[in-house]
Parts: sequence; C-alpha cells; structure tokens
Amino acid sequence: DKTVVLITGCSSGIGLGLAVRLASDTSKAFIVYATMRNLSKKERLLECVRGCHEDTMEILQMDVTDQLSIQAAKQRIKEKKVDILVCNAGAGLMGPVETQSYETMKQIFDVNLFGTICTIQAFLPEMKERKSGRIIVTGSVGGLQGIPFNDVYCASKFAVEGFCESLAILLQHFNIHISLIECGPVNTNFMTNLQRTDPEDPKLQHVDPETTQLYQKYLQHCERVFEEAAQDTEEIVQVFMDAIGAPFPSLRYYTNTTFLPLTKLKLSVEDGTQYIKAMNKFVFSTHKTGDF
Ligand code: NAD
Repeated sequence: DKTVVLITGCSSGIGLGLAVRLASDTSKAFIVYATMRNLSKKERLLECVRGCHEDTMEILQMDVTDQLSIQAAKQRIKEKKVDILVCNAGAGLMGPVETQSYETMKQIFDVNLFGTICTIQAFLPEMKERKSGRIIVTGSVGGLQGIPFNDVYCASKFAVEGFCESLAILLQHFNIHISLIECGPVNTNFMTNLQRTDPEDPKLQHVDPETTQLYQKYLQHCERVFEEAAQDTEEIVQVFMDAIGAPFPSLRYYTNTTFLPLTKLKLSVEDGTQYIKAMNKFVFSTHKTGDF
C-alpha cells in the first residue's frame, strides 16, 4: 500500500523540493499530490522530476485561501485518503508596521494561518476515522521568537504554533501526529516573493527617521544572516524525510541550530527582557551570526 502525500505550495521552494524528493524516491512508496495555487507555474516542478513521476506524482490546483479550491483538490484524490498532509504554503511580510495596510496584513494571515487551518480541517475527519495520519507544517524561527520588522509575519507564524500545539494534544487519541519543521533562513524564492517595504517606498516618508534608519540596518542584518546561516532546500527536505520516517514523530524539528540559543533564552528567562536585549544586539550591532 502506497503512502499518499498531499503538499501545498509546490510551485517553488521547499514544497517543490519535497514533492520532487518523494515522487522520485527509488522505493516508489509514495504517491504525491503536489498542489499549487497557480497551475501555470507547474513547469519548474515537472522539469525537476524529469519523467520519473509517471505513477508517483500528480499536480493539482489548490489555493489554500479558497475553500472551494481545497474541496475540489480533495475530490481528485483517487485513493480517497491522505496519509501525510504537508501544509507548506506561506508568504512573508517585512517592513515597519506603520507601512502595512490592513488588506496586506489580512492576506498574510489568510495564507499562513487560515490557509493552514482550513487545509487541516478538510483532511482531518478522514484521518480521525481511520485513526491514522500525519500532518507536517512548515514552521519558522519567526513562529518561535519575535523578529523586528517581521511583526505581522511572526504574529501569523506564532498563531500557527498555537494552533498545531493545541491540536497535537487531542490528536494523540487518534494516532495522528502533527509536526512543525522549524526553518531558519532557507535559500528559496521566499525573500523575493515576500512583500517588503522597499527602502525607497514613499510610505516610509510617513515613518519617523529613527525607525527608517533601524529598518535599513535590519535589511543589512538580514542579508548577512542569509549569507552566514541560510540552508539549501535539500537540507530542509532531509528534515521532512526524518519526520516522515520517524515511528513517533516529534511536535517540533529544528532545521538550523544557529537560532536555538536565542529561542532557549526566550524560554529560560521568562520575563522576556533578556531575549529582547539579545535580539536587539544581534540585529542592530555588527557581529557574526555564530556569536549567539
Ligand atoms: P516560496 O515563496 O518559494 O514558497 C511558498 C509557496 O507558497 C509558493 O510556491 C507560493 O506560491 C505558495 N503560496 C502562497 N500563497 C498560496 C496560496 N494562497 N495557496 C497555495 N499556495 C500558496 O518560499 P519557501 O521558503 O519555499 O516557503 C515555504 C514555507 O517555508 C512558508 O510557509 C514559509 O513561511 C516557510 N519558511 C521559509 C523560510 C525561508 O527563509 N525561505 C524561513 C522560515 C519559514
């Protein structure tokens, strides 16, 4: 019996990498439903699997913010079950909070939070009925600790953590495992796809000069962190494979140890002061990523 996997956000990045890895697995043990919002972007995925997907992969349209589209994709699953559901679709947002429009903020929450919840809602009843299933969510270091100028993105990813952790407690009774793959920076199109307030953006004229200056510093920090600590998609995909192969998967997997000291600091000094001090130093003073 083959393992049926459905993945969201497969037109690029981590979703694409995981779909390719599973569809071309030499064991041919997986049937992959690689879903994407916009089917006109399927060429890259097809190019990457290069013919070795005839009976292991099918591409389906699915916009995680559109209930009808989620249901339509579900109807197309021949096996009438999903063993592993991967909620990976997500979008970033960066800039001083004063520059973010209500519409944009809602859009980020729609994809990152409600998109994840609605996808899980669609497939959970069948998993519960079979008393079997796995849910894997692409998490983020930004879901574990605050990052300046990523306030809204972090809020959406924190919310995903709260949702998954809460659900995990109940799902133990149904033999369903939920795992978050907590990624640090990854070399994908995420940084080019994300909505970012450009340093030249006229909206910044309405922001105080000190914030604008700190934002410039943050952008440089961000570039440095990507240079020093970004992982390739393959490394991330390997962590997904570890979670998939584990008999009792954990709630959280950390792909990158660089940020663990900061994450731990947040938890060990409960009043939060040490974390915000350390993060301030990390982001706004010159340093090497490894110093933390
Ligand atoms: P990416 O931008 O290449 O991939 C995100 C994918 O989600 C894209 O294919 C995009 O089309 C898709 N998507 C966006 N809105 C959608 C919608 N409404 N319906 C369906 N699909 C939609 O970047 P990535 O790095 O591969 O991102 C994947 C996940 O990893 C995201 O959840 C992101 O938050 C998380 N993540 C990325 C990084 C990073 O540095 N790249 C770090 C931490 C977490």
